[in-house]
Amino acid sequence: MEMRYWAYLAAKLIVAAGLFRAGWFGLHAVWPAPEPFMRVHLDPFARDLGYTVVVMGYGLLALGAFYLILLDQRYRCRTCLRRLRMPVTTGAWNHWLLGPPRTEYICPYGHGTLRVPEVNIGGNADPNWKPIEDMWKELEELEPPRK
Ligand SMILES: [Zn+2]
Repeated sequence: MEMRYWAYLAAKLIVAAGLFRAGWFGLHAVWPAPEPFMRVHLDPFARDLGYTVVVMGYGLLALGAFYLILLDQRYRCRTCLRRLRMPVTTGAWNHWLLGPPRTEYICPYGHGTLRVPEVNIGGNADPNWKPIEDMWKELEELEPPRK
């Protein structure tokens, strides 16, 4: 079930969008768009340099924030949303058995592993998530619950 995973991503994006929307209005409260020049209303974006710089900077800030949200989401467990740990690099270019270089992350609670290819080959660089619930279910069944 990855519903929680996607709900978490959606929640983060909604919160970020809300914050940047609020910031946008706050920005215009302290830095209003330039008054129309001689009653001709041109787009103030390209006309006023200061305004342009502020708007572009804000846009880049928002872009960076969304990028970080997506990056953070990529390295989270699909089951419990915890940050994945223990990156292990496997594979080598000159070893046919190990395959191409990739980095494997594991959930600290053992829900699964994420395999991230080091290089993008043929556009197939999507991280490969593999749940390992079976192994842990077996372990839990073998071991009596501690109290
Ligand atoms: Zn987990």
